[in-house]
Parts: sequence; structure tokens; C-alpha cells
Amino acid sequence: MIVQQLKKISLLISLICLGLGVFAQKVVQPAITDPNWSRPYPPFQIAGNLYYVGTYDLACYLITTSQGNILINTGIADSAPVIKANIEALGFKFKDIKILLTTQAHFDHMGAMAAIKKLTGAKMMVDAGDVGVVTDGGRSDYSLSGDVSTYVPVKVDRILHNDDVIKLGNMRLIMLHHPGHTKGSCSFLFDVKDQKRSYRVLIANLPTIVTDRKFSDIPSYPNIAQDYAYTLNAMKKLSFDIWLASHASQFELQRKHKPGAGYNPDAFIDRKGYDSEINDLQNEFLKKVKGK
Ligand SMILES: [Zn+2]
Repeated sequence: MIVQQLKKISLLISLICLGLGVFAQKVVQPAITDPNWSRPYPPFQIAGNLYYVGTYDLACYLITTSQGNILINTGIADSAPVIKANIEALGFKFKDIKILLTTQAHFDHMGAMAAIKKLTGAKMMVDAGDVGVVTDGGRSDYSLSGDVSTYVPVKVDRILHNDDVIKLGNMRLIMLHHPGHTKGSCSFLFDVKDQKRSYRVLIANLPTIVTDRKFSDIPSYPNIAQDYAYTLNAMKKLSFDIWLASHASQFELQRKHKPGAGYNPDAFIDRKGYDSEINDLQNEFLKKVKGK
């Protein structure tokens, strides 16, 4: 009798462990080597209803609408309270976030996503190419070793494809599939208005190369070279007034805006800077394809 009960209990325990194993993946965030990733930065209004709410280098964007707000990117795991404080300092409610987006499913943009989703109940919308990595917290990322998650996995509520439109209130964001950096890296294109004029804004995910391996040595991403070539070509053709990026350093936020400076959307009108970034990335890509 006792033996049978013990057997039952041990079976129950193994079932519980199995059940937990499905959800509780081991999460190990890589060491943060750049202090600017967690360094606070005063939030500010970029243009119209678009605001910067990220850290010194990890760009996070808030787009406000009459029907709630959209948050793009979250920084690393402990950025959640930083972003919340930034949003509240601007006079908005954290709980008004209804839609969560990411420009690429790496831990430096997804680290606090699960926590923010839990706190706000917002819907996570992800480029089809990154759905797998978002769901396993980066474990299946082609550029990583694959034995641990680098951020807490997030449930995907809507899968996005190239040119899909994300609607909230009077806002319409177009998602542009820009794969390579991750399989589902993407950019967002939309219009914002102030009393003076309207601005076409591009939040660009620049296709930097993350892998040290030869492109031909990545069996889990056989189309990587074609994807980078596609993305570079597509990004060259985009039209916009203002451009921003996943990292503040990529679009030289620190040079264009000083903390506490007044409202000045024109500071982010910089086609030349964008073209020069894309040109550098094109050269890096060609070197990679030829060289190694
Ligand atoms: Zn990345």
C-alpha cells in the first residue's frame, strides 16, 4: 500500500517536473559589456506622437494614440522599470501600452519584453522569421550556441509579414521585413504629425553581421547571404524624413539630441547619415561574402 502510494507520488512529481520543463527554460542573459546599454537617458519627444523611452544606447520607442500606445523594443532584462519610469516622466500611463513590437529578437531589445507584456497585457506582434526565437527566448538563434535562452520567452499574439500594417487608433505602421541580423529582423515605417507638418519616420533595423562563421557554414540559416543582400537592396530604396534605429549609436542620437534640449524633429532628418551607414554595411557584407 505504502509502496503504491510512493509510486503514485513519484509519478506525480515527474509529471509536474515535465510540465514545468516545458515552460521554465533556463534563461541566461549574456554579460553586458557596454555600460551604455543600461545607462539611463532622459526620455524626450522625437516628433509628434513619437517618443524616445530607451536607455543611453538601447533605443525604445513609444507611439501614442487615442486608443492606447505602441512600444517598440525593451532593452535588457532589467530595463523594464527604466522604461516604465521614462514613459511616466513623459506623462503617459505604462498600462496604456496595447501593442509590443521588436526590430530584432536579440536579448538587448527583447530582454524586458516578457515582464512588460505581463505588466501591461499588451499584444506581442512579431515578424514571422523571428517567431521561433521569440517563443524560445533566443535559444534557437542561428548566431548563438543554442543551449540556453538569453531572455524570457514571449508568447506571440500576431505574426507579421512584409508590408503588414499595424493599426491602433489613428496610427498605421508598416512592417518591413529586413532579415539577416536575425531571421525576422524588421523596420517600421509610419507618419507622425505636429502643428507644423507631417514626418515620414523610419525605425530602421540596420543589417549588421553578427556571426563569425562563414555564411556557408550556417546550416540552420541556409538563405542568410540572400537575406542580407535582399535587405541591403530594400533599405537603399526607402523614402523617409526622419530615421532612427535599434541602437542610439547607429543614428548618432547623442550628437543629434542633447539631454534636456527642446523639441526639434529636424535634428533627425539625415538622409546622408543613413546612406553612409547602409553603404558601410554593404561593404562589410561584400567583404564577408568574398573573404572568409
Ligand atoms: Zn542584435
